[in-house]
Amino acid sequence: MGIKKMKKIVLASDNAHKCEEIQAILSAFDFEIVPMREAGFKGEDIVEDGVTFEENAMIKAKTIFETLGVAALADDSGLEVDALGGAPGVYSARYAGEPKSDQKNNEKLLEALKDVPDHARTARFVTVLTLLYEDGRSLVARGEVEGVIAHTPMGSNGFGYDPLFVVPTLGKSFAQLSSSEKNSMSHRANALKILCEMIGKIDENTGN
Ligand code: IMP
Repeated sequence: MGIKKMKKIVLASDNAHKCEEIQAILSAFDFEIVPMREAGFKGEDIVEDGVTFEENAMIKAKTIFETLGVAALADDSGLEVDALGGAPGVYSARYAGEPKSDQKNNEKLLEALKDVPDHARTARFVTVLTLLYEDGRSLVARGEVEGVIAHTPMGSNGFGYDPLFVVPTLGKSFAQLSSSEKNSMSHRANALKILCEMIGKIDENTGN
């Protein structure tokens, strides 16, 4: 049996941690994930001005595909809080303004929910992954994880809204989980699982 050539996919991000996490999962499909700057992307930071996670992930994937002419993968994530009509949503990173600050975002979220009772504090983390193949085909996978927003921060692991995001079945916040516990159930992990299933189906159909 011949050696299968790795298929190079450029990730529309410079986040080395994100790249490693995605690489670890997608290597099963002979994909080599390369961060955009390493792949030669010299443009400005990509402006994410979409109003949905799907639009932002597509904007990022298309920018890489059109600039470098290679297969591109992009992700966009955030927190949707039901009592706030889905906010902060695509604005999660900069909810409390510039410069972006996880602590200020969490403070603003607690203030916005100060009069909201427990049963109405439902929320979910969302990740959308978009994979654009060189021949123009695209795959879009949405992963979610349901939770509730705590009244005070709990735990010190993770980042972003993790200290406020409680998984009801565990009675713990994401920041109280180890990274392997979080990675086994997170929105990003769920989106990657769905993307892998989609890639598997394409490979079956094309014999790749
Ligand atoms: P990004 O699209 O992955 O950069 O995520 C945008 C923003 O959503 C981050 O800056 C965080 O505020 C929030 N976010 C996304 N994923 C997570 C997570 O796993 N834990 C906590 N916050 C997250």
